[in-house]
Amino acid sequence: MYQFSPQHNLSTLVTHIGEDENTQHSHVSPIFQTSTFNFPDVATGAGIVARTEPGFYYTRLGNPNLEQLARKIAYLEGIDLIRRQPDAKPSELVAGQVFSSGMSAITSMLLSLLKAGDTIVSQEAVYSATFTFLKEIASTLGIRVAWVRDTSQAGWEAAFAAHPKAKLAYAETPANPTMAVVDLKAVAKLAHQHGAWLAVDNTFASPFCQRPLSLGADIVVHSTTKFLSGHGALTGGVVVSAHTDYIQKTLYAFVKTLGGIPSPFDSWLANIGLKTFALRMQRHCENAMQVARFLCNHPAVATVHYPGLEDDPGHEIAAHQMQGFGGVLSFELKGGMQAGIRLMERVQLATLAVSLGMVDTLIEHPASMTHGPVPREDRLNQGITDGLVRLSVGIEDVEDILADLEQGLR
Ligand code: PLP
Repeated sequence: MYQFSPQHNLSTLVTHIGEDENTQHSHVSPIFQTSTFNFPDVATGAGIVARTEPGFYYTRLGNPNLEQLARKIAYLEGIDLIRRQPDAKPSELVAGQVFSSGMSAITSMLLSLLKAGDTIVSQEAVYSATFTFLKEIASTLGIRVAWVRDTSQAGWEAAFAAHPKAKLAYAETPANPTMAVVDLKAVAKLAHQHGAWLAVDNTFASPFCQRPLSLGADIVVHSTTKFLSGHGALTGGVVVSAHTDYIQKTLYAFVKTLGGIPSPFDSWLANIGLKTFALRMQRHCENAMQVARFLCNHPAVATVHYPGLEDDPGHEIAAHQMQGFGGVLSFELKGGMQAGIRLMERVQLATLAVSLGMVDTLIEHPASMTHGPVPREDRLNQGITDGLVRLSVGIEDVEDILADLEQGLR
């Protein structure tokens, strides 16, 4: 049998890793659409429940489709660590836990690490629901949040200087929808100097473009709703860490109780989506770069935020820590919000919808849509202006995307 090693490239690995435990030899993994699993006898059942015997017994507590997905994404995020230690078992170097949505992954991770009296140092410009959780729910649990508005190293240093005992740093890079970039290596080092962990939302970049664990981060979270599954057919989330005990013991204990797991079918769908992940990402990145350049040169456009552009404030750091600049960008038109609304209503190929990371191009207005729930003052503090338009560039032929934008901007 062909052996897949960490030295294979991402396309090969993502297609084959985690596909080897199918006892019926069906070419595509079966869907274990079941809530419970039969025990052969009482002693084995007790062993499976106690986790002294391998096996599954109840889908909330484990299911082959969920495990396959977690294993694949953990491998992708941990590929550099696995390559550095070829003699170790990948599962001992990196582990993952899947969830029913990105927010379930993020909130379960935060609740598993923070308790009353703890402080988290968090970037202020994070996904709206993450912001709402930290601002409105974490505070009711006695968790303090030290916000980082200036995402340069100086901003993180100031927050840690004011809160030297903070337990966790939280970053989202590139950030939704401002595309602000955080220097992960530097923030990881700073957090570790204070005995804190760094957790990173890697949804926008995906492990194709950026692998925070290789840069020193302790935890990676994703909305698998986006690039990882790629087709917009499901919601899902994942938490990955090289602290395998944290995933398998601490976080697992929370998942068992909070119960935010995805369905076997959604996990299966995400797995199928992952098979084309590397190919899709390559095209997303190429198309987004061309769209960013087109918008920069268009007379109706005032500003474009995309870390792939040489004059973007995040470009230098992104060029060091990313292998591609991703498929999302945001921009503002010279005519402000009204011009943005006209564009969103005129485009025909791009679909007016929230979400991102799908094979087709989506356009939306963060101030009234994805970030509508964030109070205007907070939104402006995060850099999300009223006129900002977000574009998730799909994998269609780029000439068609450009022609659609051109006619929309005319
Ligand atoms: N993180 C980021 C960066 C996101 O853009 C989103 C959703 O848009 C989430 C987390 C939440 O993911 P989900 O919608 O799957 O809960």
